[in-house]
Amino acid sequence: MVKNKNISLREVNRKNILKIIIRKGPISRIGISRMLNISRPTTSNYINELIEEGLIVEIGKSKSTNLGGKRAVLVDLNKKAFYILGVMIGVKFIRFSLSDFRLNILFQYKVQTEEWKGSKSVIKKIIDNINKIINDKQIVKERTIGIGIGSSGLVDSKKGEVIFSPNLRGWKNIDLKNIIENSTNIPTYIENECRVQAIAEKNFGLAKDFENIVCIKICTGVGTGVFVNNNLLIGNMGMVGEVGHITTNIEGDKLCHCGNVGCLETLCSMKALIEDITEDIKGSNEEEKYHGGELLGDDIYKLYKENDEIVTRNVEKNAKLLGIGISNSIKMFNPELVIIHGEVIKFGEPYLKIVKESVKKNTFPKVKNEYNVQFSELGENVGLIGVSYIVFNNTFNLEDTNLLGQYIIKKRIK
Ligand SMILES: [Zn+2]
Repeated sequence: MVKNKNISLREVNRKNILKIIIRKGPISRIGISRMLNISRPTTSNYINELIEEGLIVEIGKSKSTNLGGKRAVLVDLNKKAFYILGVMIGVKFIRFSLSDFRLNILFQYKVQTEEWKGSKSVIKKIIDNINKIINDKQIVKERTIGIGIGSSGLVDSKKGEVIFSPNLRGWKNIDLKNIIENSTNIPTYIENECRVQAIAEKNFGLAKDFENIVCIKICTGVGTGVFVNNNLLIGNMGMVGEVGHITTNIEGDKLCHCGNVGCLETLCSMKALIEDITEDIKGSNEEEKYHGGELLGDDIYKLYKENDEIVTRNVEKNAKLLGIGISNSIKMFNPELVIIHGEVIKFGEPYLKIVKESVKKNTFPKVKNEYNVQFSELGENVGLIGVSYIVFNNTFNLEDTNLLGQYIIKKRIK
């Protein structure tokens, strides 16, 4: 990263024009000049430069006003100007996406993680796929401004390191940012997958209008991403809100991969649910129905929809335990909204109803309003949306009020 402390007023103005267009575009030149309090001719000059460089485009005219004023030409970000590459490293799959400059996902696909082969093999797979995407077209290679990566486990986003990812074999102190940057020469940003999902919800999902949110993900493990007063919480070593590792069963003997026993994750993750159901069907004379005890998530959703007694009982227990986890996070972070992510969404509304009842039962009884707990509506691409936004935000420093920030865009054009 290049540090430029002697950034000129011209560059500051150009950057601020871009920020306004990102937030308010399509917008007229006069609208921008008013917002920045710089003259119309000066604003227009900068805008013409940015159009020439391909960063912004003219996209038609504003609606005519009642006063019969002239219709202004509107400018907006050129969505074809740059690309952003997204990667989400999950226990089962690694997802890849390419987004345009307006963060529309142009395409996405997934490959099996095969985490049991160890970190080197997984990292190689990531680099190979990134290279495949950027080398597919020359224009993508030239114009990819950043790679955003979401990973499960403890992530130091400042250093770009995955400190420890218990569900991925051999992931300990992996300097992922440097590894990817060294092999692609593209700026790379790393974040924890649950914080990525919270970022996506905050900017594009259910949490857009809320300041305090908890996103809780239930898949192989249980993780959370938390915003308090609009700030994403990270904490020492990125461990804020590890609800999955709150001791929930003090008499439990199930060892969690974190080294403790009785963690919520050992009780209500998808992994725990499958283990519990497998235990209960042992000796069942309905071998075929339960696939000989080798159940996958999809089998369980199907059996739940069919009201299978053993599966339903365990899924309901899982929902109640998740409700306890959520009620603990409500007491800790006092969110206006809790958003559930992950595979459990497939259990649908009956599951959510039990979670909500459990939350209500286990949270302060004197609070009249029901706690707002919902399933995410962003779908499977939630992580890819989040990591793409992280790249965009880091490139423009959108939340940075220091006008003398870096001007990475200009550097990468030349
Ligand atoms: Zn644990």
